[in-house]
Amino acid sequence: MTLQSFGVIGLAVMGENIALNVERNGFPIAVYNRSREKTDAFMAERAPGRNVKAAFNLEDFVASLERPRKILVMVQAGKPVDAVIAQLKPLLDEGDIIIDGGNSWFEDTDRRTQELEPAGLRFLGMGVSGGEEGALNGPSLMPGGTESSYEYLAPIFTKIAAQVDDGPCVTYVGPGGAGHYVKMVHNGIEYGDMQLIAEAYDLLKSVAGLDHNQLHEVFTEWNTTDELNSFLIEITANIFPYLDPGTKKPLVELIVDAAGQKGTGRWTVQTALELGVAIPTITAAVNARIMSSIRTERIAASKELNGPGGKYQGDTKEFVNMVRDALYCSKICSYAQGMALLSAASKTYNWNLNLGELARIWKGGCIIRAGFLNKIKKAFSENAALPNLLLAPEFKQTILDRQTAWREVIMTAAKLGIPVPAFSASLDYFDSYRRDRLPQNLTQAQRDYFGAHTYQRTDKEGTFHTEWVPITEAKK
Ligand code: NAP
Repeated sequence: MTLQSFGVIGLAVMGENIALNVERNGFPIAVYNRSREKTDAFMAERAPGRNVKAAFNLEDFVASLERPRKILVMVQAGKPVDAVIAQLKPLLDEGDIIIDGGNSWFEDTDRRTQELEPAGLRFLGMGVSGGEEGALNGPSLMPGGTESSYEYLAPIFTKIAAQVDDGPCVTYVGPGGAGHYVKMVHNGIEYGDMQLIAEAYDLLKSVAGLDHNQLHEVFTEWNTTDELNSFLIEITANIFPYLDPGTKKPLVELIVDAAGQKGTGRWTVQTALELGVAIPTITAAVNARIMSSIRTERIAASKELNGPGGKYQGDTKEFVNMVRDALYCSKICSYAQGMALLSAASKTYNWNLNLGELARIWKGGCIIRAGFLNKIKKAFSENAALPNLLLAPEFKQTILDRQTAWREVIMTAAKLGIPVPAFSASLDYFDSYRRDRLPQNLTQAQRDYFGAHTYQRTDKEGTFHTEWVPITEAKK
């Protein structure tokens, strides 16, 4: 019996597409799905003419693979991954490799690595980005785990990944859960990008009064610029002119304005808080989705709570350009936060992440792919110890040149009562980062006043406590 080179477990959207990608690139595949229907449908509809062997139990699946076996698990994150691993483990031989390609929590990946590697198995946690289309035609891949295990997979992954001008969109990320952590932060940045674009749309529509054809034109034009050219701007441009076949209205305006937030976006915020890294733009993006989801309550409140309203009174073209500048400055701040989080995680967990290389593998395949990532790659390639992207020559002058427009847009939004939480959070991040003195001297004084937490002084060394007012015991 000829053996297959690569196995995929889980034939939902991601699994079936990545399986076909692997096969198309010259590696015979074996597939297995818990419920038989998906496998039958895959074999009938997508596998004909391909080198695919379907298995209907894990014993046959494992037996159909050459050694060391390379098995990609693409099932729902969480308990299903543990369930699959528990079933696979007794069937595998020393040196076989399991790759978890789902959006797993990075500490689960660390735990699984520690459970599997002493038993002689190899385990990689790999972030996969690009959705259905990316999985089929070339995703961005973020594999983490033991580096020697990745070497067995590099020939396959470098072929199936998206290809850009400076190589395939895959790199060995780092040990343990590093790959899944990086994918999680990628998704957090994706939340930030999407919220910033949503705010730009709201400003252009509600404040500048642009219709859907004009919105299409503006986003199409922005997509040609060096700064904003990206997959998300491109799809946004395509969304506006799409008319609902039934009503002939722009479909986007018929869609309920409530977005979910779970998994990776929320996790990014949680881990940033734990590591003590400020990511206010990404946090604002998660919060904006939470606010959107209380739709019934908002609709009721809209009848009770008045705001200013109205339109921008100046030149529309000028306002559109100011929104573009505000979007770009805010986007730089959002990426600065994501990269700062990765840098802190790298130090905390000893991952030795290469931030320039991570920016490079996000240039293609994934949802945040953008020309702008070239600049980030360059910034970290030139200075791996860069404390913050805002200080990189590529970005510093850009922000300084555009900050007037950025401030003007946020002031206009505030005056007219349009929420721009991610634009504002970005500007606050910029202003906080560039201030040599913040008002937390007062916070420290308060903490010392009520809790004797002590403080340090600007004019001499040491730790101090002051009895701000005499404390006297209450009388009986
Ligand atoms: P999904 O909807 O997250 O998961 C469905 C798959 O998981 C099915 O094959 C299902 O098998 C299997 N499964 C669930 N519980 C199982 C269990 N206890 N034992 C064995 N199999 C089990 O699928 P997906 O959207 O393709 O995503 C797969 C992974 O990639 C997820 O971690 C997801 O977060 C991540 N991801 C998704 C995207 C995307 O755009 N969808 C993008 C990047 C990453 P049955 O058919 O038997 O139910």
